[in-house]
Amino acid sequence: MDNCIFCKIAKREIPSNEIYEDEDILAFNDINPAAPIHFLLIPKMHIDSLTDAQDIHQSLLGKMLLLAPQLAKKQGCENGFRTIINTGPAGGQEIFHLHFHIIGGRDRLPGMI
Ligand code: 5GP
Ligand code: ZN
Repeated sequence: MDNCIFCKIAKREIPSNEIYEDEDILAFNDINPAAPIHFLLIPKMHIDSLTDAQDIHQSLLGKMLLLAPQLAKKQGCENGFRTIINTGPAGGQEIFHLHFHIIGGRDRLPGMI
């Protein structure tokens, strides 16, 4: 996708603070962190959102989910973390390249979903 900021990050056309890479997946710190630890896990291939994920993406999505706790631990989430996937406009999604938010480093606040 030519105009997708996360595709550009995956292709190193835009810099990011990377914390993990393999042939399918990239993880990098969120530019506007909502907590002391806040990074994004993306597939390198462009998928608009979770709504657009298909059966062919099953192993990729499983790989991302299994990677999340490993990276969270390495980043310092000792007591757990939150995994958020905003999906579609009503889900608060702003960047339409599928991404998991991994958020930790502070306790869940009252009222926080
Ligand atoms: P969404 O609302 O789409 O789930 O979240 C998009 C996230 O991407 C936001 O938390 C925002 O701070 C982050 N973000 C947007 N642009 C960039 C960027 O250029 N670099 C990085 N590292 N994060 C970004
Ligand atoms: Zn993209």
